[in-house]
Amino acid sequence: MSYKSLIAVIVLVAAVISCKSNTNTGTNNNGQTGITFTPEELMILNQSDSVMYLTVIGDKSDSIILRKTSRDFTEHELQSKEFQTLARNLLATVQDPSQDGVGISAPQVGLNLRMIAVMRYDKEDKPIEPYANIHITDYSQNIKSGPEGCLSVPNYRGIVPRSDSIIVSYYDINSKTSKTDTIGGYTAIIFQHETDHLEGILYIDRADSVFFNQKWADERKLFEQQGAYTKPAWWPYK
Ligand code: ZN
Repeated sequence: MSYKSLIAVIVLVAAVISCKSNTNTGTNNNGQTGITFTPEELMILNQSDSVMYLTVIGDKSDSIILRKTSRDFTEHELQSKEFQTLARNLLATVQDPSQDGVGISAPQVGLNLRMIAVMRYDKEDKPIEPYANIHITDYSQNIKSGPEGCLSVPNYRGIVPRSDSIIVSYYDINSKTSKTDTIGGYTAIIFQHETDHLEGILYIDRADSVFFNQKWADERKLFEQQGAYTKPAWWPYK
């Protein structure tokens, strides 16, 4: 092969790789490869400021998101500014007085991405911590039933059977490494509830019983009157 032919082949191969790369990476607004956020996801990730809109099962387009399976972040997405923003905003949302939750998942803020935040009752000061690419790899055989509620199923509570101990694998945001952990007690219940959201499963699917909770309904009505649960005008799903 001549020198010129070799150069031509290299240029052609580079062009093909480049095209393939563009096809695989989808929207890429920060010059990185491996960013596969959809335009709708980017809108929610970039437009949300601190406390995010929270999806509810009674809204048609919200319920579609709540019932979908969520995907892992790619290696490049784990390093993206959108990823950091989401971790921060998830914490702000679950801790906002209008929600006051012990856990939250990305589908609840409109994103089918594998991130949750969980209040760690098993740690001192009970911090709420974010976990990305989380999967439950083992469930204990020992099952206990207890009360649960969900920010996306307003005004109701239920009695739900759960494993009393689980093993989780996840990407640790602080150390930027993959980790596994054995979790027990009430913290394990929250992990199971939130990770279920990433599979499109709600606690009402597993509950032995579901009942109206007047106290929560009264509290929520006050925040609703203040506009805390209004869907933003820019929201991409109608
Ligand atoms: Zn929930």
